[in-house]
This record gives sequence, structure tokens and C-alpha cells, in this order.
Amino acid sequence: MKGIILVIDGMGDRPIKELNNKTPLESANTPNMDKMVEEGITGIMDTIRPGVRPGSDTAHLTLLGYDPYEVYTGRGPIEALGIDMDVNPGDIAFRCNFSTADDNMIITDRRAGRIQEGTDKIADTINTMNLADDVEVIFKESDGHRGVLILRGEGLSDKITDSDPKKEGKKPKTVKPLDDSPEAKKTADIVNKFVEESFRLLKNHPVNEKLISEGKVPANIVLPRGVGEVPHLKTLDEKFGFKSACVAETGLIQGIGKLAGMDIIKIPGATGGINTDIDSIHKHIIKTVKDDQYDFILINVDGADEAGHDGDYLGKKGFIEKVDVIMGDLREIDDIVLFVTADHSTPVSVKDHSGDPVPVFIKADGLRVDDITEYGERAAAKGGLCRIRGSDVMQIIRDLMGVTDKYGA
Ligand code: ZN
Ligand code: ZN
Repeated sequence: MKGIILVIDGMGDRPIKELNNKTPLESANTPNMDKMVEEGITGIMDTIRPGVRPGSDTAHLTLLGYDPYEVYTGRGPIEALGIDMDVNPGDIAFRCNFSTADDNMIITDRRAGRIQEGTDKIADTINTMNLADDVEVIFKESDGHRGVLILRGEGLSDKITDSDPKKEGKKPKTVKPLDDSPEAKKTADIVNKFVEESFRLLKNHPVNEKLISEGKVPANIVLPRGVGEVPHLKTLDEKFGFKSACVAETGLIQGIGKLAGMDIIKIPGATGGINTDIDSIHKHIIKTVKDDQYDFILINVDGADEAGHDGDYLGKKGFIEKVDVIMGDLREIDDIVLFVTADHSTPVSVKDHSGDPVPVFIKADGLRVDDITEYGERAAAKGGLCRIRGSDVMQIIRDLMGVTDKYGA
């Protein structure tokens, strides 16, 4: 028996007028998932708790059986682990965006036109920065417009605010200490200096001159956010005795997998968007599921979330249909407990994560099936699983795998 959580990131949504008041999932043509729902059991889930808008990181930690309120220190360290950076205790890690600023340092594109190439050369330049004698700047590009900054040195703190204004048309926010400690003040000063230096160094960078000559926007400023120190987690092996693997597109989810002690299965061609190489993802999912060495697998496909953030309901619907093709193969595999879910809703009308519960279903042998025959938010709300929490998922999977002990006599 093998346990699998398959997360279609940000899939949950709300009815959309242009889709005849259906959600992207409800209006998508998903014959394979509908069939699995018919053979399985469905419900809805509050990943963290009702009304809490989860981040992808806190949501995945919860699904894996961790209490995010205990172990989560911020997104930066998870991203750093996800892109194979060496992280030491005491390091302060940030998630960064390559962004575009005008001459007055006003942000005109938070994602630098979703830049795909050249960020490694920009990272080389950033790594030449010297912001303080006793603090090392370590920077690495991640996928797309994303990167990670590590500050290593004495007397640093993660008790500071973000620089990212989160909106276009504004200047980077001045980073402020969140407590009175000299460590927080020192770190805030260094991060403010980092943002200014990035703008100074990247303005006339060859990669940006090339982008501009091609009529594209430059990646001429770097905005750190999601600061945190690296947490120490018990692995899934220590918690449940599971040898486990993580098949994910983004550094963020791979970082969660690493924290949980999972083997990371990289997917060539995966971009985390709706233009991702779905065939490559398909191949790697099936190969890992059929790999006998693993007891448990976490799978994450990211495109529906990106389409939700972009307000692209047709892109979201189309991506869900692509994932359904993978489901056709998973349906044929025996001896698995497959829990299919989203980590949170990303409604296209909100363009961000919402507190709406997500639709889930389980494929497994010996299930007490319900009457639901299609996969959708409203159908799932009538399913036999009813309304569960993300923190219940590992327990339910382990029970269906037959690996739990009876509680009591
Ligand atoms: Zn997510
Ligand atoms: Zn998201």
C-alpha cells in the first residue's frame, strides 16, 4: 500500500459569470476525475482551519501532518532549501522577486515580465555585493522571476518587515525592524541597502540591455520578502516510518519536501505555470508512483494557482483538463490510497488565495463510497467525507493504508 497526496495548487474557485456561473473545475471536462469521484468518496476541506487563507507552504506543511503555527518561520528558508542552497543555522533567508522599476524606483512590473532567461547572470552580479563587513550576501535565482537571498553573519534577526510593495505603481517599502533589538535594526538596514544596490547594479546590466532591445521590460531591481530562519522538522520517516518522495514543480514545494525529509523528484520542463511541460510531469508522477522504494508521495502541480493569480479563468479550466489526463493513468494503478485536493482556493475573481474550502476526493480500495459522480466544489460539498481539515489528511490516508494502531482496547 502506498499513500499519495496529489495537490492541484489553488484549484478551488467561485462561480464565474462567463462560465455560466460554474467554477473552472466545474466547467472543465474531467472524465477521469469524475470517474474516480464516482468510484471514491468526496468532501470539502479547510486546509488550515475555516476562514484562514493559507499560503502554499503552510498548507502543504499541514497536509503532511505538521502544525504550521509551530514550525513555520517564513517562506524564505523553504525556497532556499527548494533550490538546493546550503543553509546554516542562524542564516536569514528571503524569497525575492526580480522586478521592474522606472527611473524613480517605482515598481512597474513585480515579476519583470515573467522573465525566463538570464536571471543566473543577474544573480552573479548580485553576489558581488558587499553590504556589511561581517555579513555575507548569498543569492541564487529560482524558477521564472523568483530568487532567494541568504544573509549570513553575526547579529542578524528575522524580525523585520518586507520590501515588496505587493502592488505596481509604488516604491519598494522601507524595511523596518519589528522589535527593539539591535539585530533587527541591523538586518533591516542591510536589506534596505540590498534593494538600493540591486537597482544601482542592475540598471545597465547586459541582460537588461538585451531585454530592453527586444522590447521587453528589464529585471532591474530585486525585492526580498518572506524572511525567516530555517526551522528543524521531524522527518516523515521519523513521524510515520514512511520512505517518501516529493514530485513538485516549484522550489517552494520542493523546499517543504526537503524539510520533511523527502526525496525530491525534479521534473525537467516544469515551469509552475499553465505553459508547463505536462507530459514531463505526467511521466515523472507515474514513474514515482510505480517506484517500489516509496511508501508515501506528495505531488504538486502549480498551473491552476498561477492562472488564478492572473485572473485567467480559461487558462485555469484548461490546465485542470490537462491534469485530468494524468488522472486517467493513476486510476488504473492498484494498491494506492490517493488523496486528491487543492492546497487552497485561488479564485480568479480574487486573484489571490481565499479562505474558501477546497473540494477533495479519495481513491482507495474498500472505501465507503458516496453518491457523488462529478468533481466540483458544489458536488463535493454533498459528499460522504463531509467537511474535514488539512490536519486530518495524513491520519485518514494512514488509516486507509492499514498502518495505524487502534486507539484503546
Ligand atoms: Zn498553493
Ligand atoms: Zn498562489
